[in-house]
Amino acid sequence: MKYKRAICWFRNDLRLHDNEMLAQALRHSEEVIPVFCIDPRSFQRTPLNLEKTGPFRANFIRESLIDLEKSLQSTGADLILLNGHPEEVLVTFAEQNQVAAIFFSEEVTYEEKQVEKALYLNGKKKGIATQSYWQATLFHPEDLPFPIPRLPEIFTTFRKACEKESVIRQLFPTPVTIPFPAELKSTGTIPSLGELGLESPNPSEKAVLSFMGGETQGLKRVEHYLWETDAIARYKQTRNGLTGADYSSKFSPWLAVGSLSPRWIYAEIRKYEKEVEKNDSTYWLIFELIWRDYFRFISKKHGDRIFKRSGIQPETRVWKQDNLLFNAWATGMTGIPFIDANMRELNQTGFMSNRGRQLVASFLANDMGLDWTWGAAYFESKLIDYDVCSNWANWMYVAGVGNDPRSDRYFNLTTQAKNYDPDGDYVRQWLPELSAIPGFRIHRPDLMAKSDLSALGINLGTDYPHLVFKPKIW
Ligand SMILES: Cc1cc2nc3c(=O)[nH]c(=O)nc-3n(C[C@H](O)[C@H](O)[C@H](O)COP(=O)(O)OP(=O)(O)OC[C@H]3O[C@@H](n4cnc5c(N)ncnc54)[C@H](O)[C@@H]3O)c2cc1C
Repeated sequence: MKYKRAICWFRNDLRLHDNEMLAQALRHSEEVIPVFCIDPRSFQRTPLNLEKTGPFRANFIRESLIDLEKSLQSTGADLILLNGHPEEVLVTFAEQNQVAAIFFSEEVTYEEKQVEKALYLNGKKKGIATQSYWQATLFHPEDLPFPIPRLPEIFTTFRKACEKESVIRQLFPTPVTIPFPAELKSTGTIPSLGELGLESPNPSEKAVLSFMGGETQGLKRVEHYLWETDAIARYKQTRNGLTGADYSSKFSPWLAVGSLSPRWIYAEIRKYEKEVEKNDSTYWLIFELIWRDYFRFISKKHGDRIFKRSGIQPETRVWKQDNLLFNAWATGMTGIPFIDANMRELNQTGFMSNRGRQLVASFLANDMGLDWTWGAAYFESKLIDYDVCSNWANWMYVAGVGNDPRSDRYFNLTTQAKNYDPDGDYVRQWLPELSAIPGFRIHRPDLMAKSDLSALGINLGTDYPHLVFKPKIW
């Protein structure tokens, strides 16, 4: 059966390549209307008075939409922009334009699921069908060796079983033409940041990469990381880096909004392995993408528990909720240079390395004893690559309330600084004030901790109060 006309509701799947939602809509309907909804709830302030979507990510999404609009226009279609709650405005638009069905990609977590349920019910009342597709992961849930409720709580068990027993599905072709209703005028415009109530992000020149949203840029980044530079062939050795564009793939912002399909990346890596080189590093990028899958499936398994302080463990720990301490962490003013440098990188660019994320998260939860959900909410606001499952599940993991909780996930900052920033280059980059302190050279990693600074005769608290936060911490 073919629908006369269907909506493709784009969400975190802002691409034409390997897009099952789009491919199925084209297969099952004579005409297709691509739609994106500007949902005001995504731009509200959170209970911690943070922007739910901060300027770096909002700008990235804007760029992604501009690119998607262009790509759709090149196929003969267009992108319709609707303002409002998708579960309402999509149904109203569908009614006004004789649309029989709404196609979309399924999400996993609470707020998105509520929207999907309401859309289904509102659509049903008006005789409009809804069809959803799962497409954010490498492995399809139907192809996993276990049903989601029985998903292993240990990553290695999950990975090994998938690698042995599951296959990654074939890619969907990129459509060349999209039949779009001739009489339909493009409506709505992509809002400016000002219209979304946000300031321009103004990223620091020190940013690891000038991230630009959109499928075109995402595909270019893959081209760069694999085919132009062979950086992928060294990934396992460089992936814990802190500075520079190519120590890691930086695919995450495009993956988060779906401008890159993980399966498409996987196919490119396999091709690279065949045509250029296959080694530990090429495998390791796939390994990391499997982590991404894992956290999405874990979020599906445990529902809204991933947002609770107790995580997926029994409630045992008491977490401090102290605004003063939290602000010191958030603004990069704890007085611990390695932590502050990472937080300042995040605040000034929207990005932080995986190593940095692990360290600042562990510091907040395990050293400061602060409510880890506050840290996760802060990342949600600031990260350019925020992905609800990767973020909250990683935070749970580091805070010891997630999968496979172990006490040895504690990070010793001095050791970490010694291993990952041995010459202090990274800290110096983000805390130039420290370099300006007379007689102070960040040349010894063991001088990274506050107590060691005072051993040097430097009292950050009195001499440089803007650099340090004093009261009762750790
Ligand atoms: C506290 C904390 C919060 C995080 N929040 C997010 C988030 O909101 N969004 C996000 O995409 N990643 C998050 N991560 C995971 C990881 O830090 C980033 O994916 C990675 O740093 C992005 O850089 P990259 O693309 O260069 O990664 P690469 O090292 O090149 O890895 C390739 C891809 O693998 C995936 N990946 C790698 N590590 C992880 C991981 N630990 N968990 C899940 N997927 C992974 C990502 O999709 C990444 O793009 C978080 C990690 C921690 C510790």
